[in-house]
Amino acid sequence: MEGNIRVGTLFGIPFYINPSWFLILALGTFWFGEQFAQVLNGNLLPWIMGLTTSLLLFASVLAHELGHSAAALSQGIGVRSITLFIFGGLAMLEKESETPFQSFLVAIAGPLVSILLFVVFSIAGSTLPLPTSLSIIISILATLNLILAVFNLIPGLPLDGGNVLKAAIWKLTGNPNKGLLYASRVGQIFGWVAITTGALAVFDVIEYGSLWTVLIGFFLLQNAGMSAQSAQVQDKLDHYTAKDAVIPDSPIVSQDLTLREFVNDYVIGNNKWRKFLVTNADGQLVGAIATEDLKAVATSEWTEKTVQTLMKPVEEDTQIEASQSLLEVVKRFEQDTNKQLTVIDQNGVVLGLLEKSSIVNLLSQPQENQSQDSKPEATPV
Ligand SMILES: [Zn+2]
Repeated sequence: MEGNIRVGTLFGIPFYINPSWFLILALGTFWFGEQFAQVLNGNLLPWIMGLTTSLLLFASVLAHELGHSAAALSQGIGVRSITLFIFGGLAMLEKESETPFQSFLVAIAGPLVSILLFVVFSIAGSTLPLPTSLSIIISILATLNLILAVFNLIPGLPLDGGNVLKAAIWKLTGNPNKGLLYASRVGQIFGWVAITTGALAVFDVIEYGSLWTVLIGFFLLQNAGMSAQSAQVQDKLDHYTAKDAVIPDSPIVSQDLTLREFVNDYVIGNNKWRKFLVTNADGQLVGAIATEDLKAVATSEWTEKTVQTLMKPVEEDTQIEASQSLLEVVKRFEQDTNKQLTVIDQNGVVLGLLEKSSIVNLLSQPQENQSQDSKPEATPV
């Protein structure tokens, strides 16, 4: 999110606050303060209690996000950040869970923490001998945590219940993308339901709902729309393999070429490539040669020396099998820093290079305007 303020770290996770959060903190303080003012005396006390309740509500939201984070970390999935914003909290995970059940655990962990807090606050409120003001705050917190759990369990993305539904469909169909798509569609429906309900309430047609419901509806609709789009892109990627995205006329040269032939045929008049893959007689990868390395050899020797004498070994982790699905390729680009991958078929023959841009080109062929960044870099929960 734009303009996030870094507050610090929580259990090693970077913790941010979005400026929009201050608005909801102020509204919360005012709203709770007004309630307290009806039952408590004093000019300042109700507002201090309103602020305290709001802050404790956000501490509860934070605990909820830490629940998701703990489940992710236990699966070896890193948490990039936790952010508080106007509609609650967001934990950004580095990647998806490996299995539907693990995905379910990450999704349910947040609401479970909220339910646990509801139980703890309920028991504390009814058993501990507390001053009235404190017991009111505790009973409000119990209710808020219950609402937090129930609201988040609505089975449409981007809510936790949507992630639970996604995991269930993934389990049933064996296809994580189907889960993502259907849970997004349900999320869009709930978005429209919230917008309609809120609008009817604003015009006094029905009793429950407010402008706030409308805003939450738009938030749900927008995020569910994005994840539906991402599901479609991923589905498309899954139908292609690395071979399909190989750059035509990739820079490949034979190790037996003399440096003179290499310069004449490949380097002169070619501004596109500065580095070439080198293959043996069978077309297998044996190394790479950079044009700048030519400087190390006197021009007079170019007719005697071959490409093989100047080539350098190619790292194993920059190679990828031709039959790999493009979805896997995209995930690899997200996780490591390689900008190019060398595509190799099952016989070890080099097919060419693959870059992020070649995937974008491939996807945009049949359908123009395919958004390049519609696949989220991380998984919000
Ligand atoms: Zn959650």
